[in-house]
Amino acid sequence: MKDTFKHQGMRQQLVEILVKKGIKDQNVLAAIGKIPRHLFMDSGFIDHAYQDKAFPIGADQTISQPYTVAFQSELMQIKPGDKVLEIGTGSGYQTAVLLELGAKVFSIERQKELFKKASKFLPKLGYRAKKLIFGDGYKGLVEEAPFKSIIVTAGAPFVPNPLLAQLEIGGRLVIPVGDAVQTMTLFIRKGPKEFEKHELGEFRFVPLLEDKN
Ligand code: SAH
Repeated sequence: MKDTFKHQGMRQQLVEILVKKGIKDQNVLAAIGKIPRHLFMDSGFIDHAYQDKAFPIGADQTISQPYTVAFQSELMQIKPGDKVLEIGTGSGYQTAVLLELGAKVFSIERQKELFKKASKFLPKLGYRAKKLIFGDGYKGLVEEAPFKSIIVTAGAPFVPNPLLAQLEIGGRLVIPVGDAVQTMTLFIRKGPKEFEKHELGEFRFVPLLEDKN
């Protein structure tokens, strides 16, 4: 597990690409500049780690494109101490970004292999989520609700009601909604039954899957 000057230099170039693509949140950019993304990827792909692209992480899943990670993280407007729920731990890279932003992170993954891998790997880098959970993200995490923000990192065919219900008032849900192509959607909870909805462009994710557990 090495993070060399070469990797650090490549990360700074990636940060510059994200700035050019419109990412403005300095804390998000600093997190991406700091986290050794190459260590979250299978060795064969390490040379690609600092391109702005998604890559396979096993179990037919991908580590999200850095731009997508940055875009979603920016929308969450995280402040240190925020209680945050992530659906789709995957490689744990997005989890690490949330932790760098100072969030208290709960993250759910439905693939056992990826859940185990991230559970071992994140602490090795010093990233301690409040809890990594093996389970179905469609249900959210009712025992820890409400959350200040919730991020879904897989394409959801519809918006799961439990996720909206588990937001605190003023809380934000960032979720890509759609089948082949998804619309990045931000819900802000304005009241017990009131949600403001913003649609923020098209993205492509692996699907949020149901009924594994
Ligand atoms: N945040 C991850 C992205 C991984 S891709 C990263 O940075 O690497 C999306 C992840 O969502 C996959 O790991 C997939 O297994 C997981 N997933 C799909 N459906 C799910 C569900 N219903 N509940 C929890 N995780 C799910």
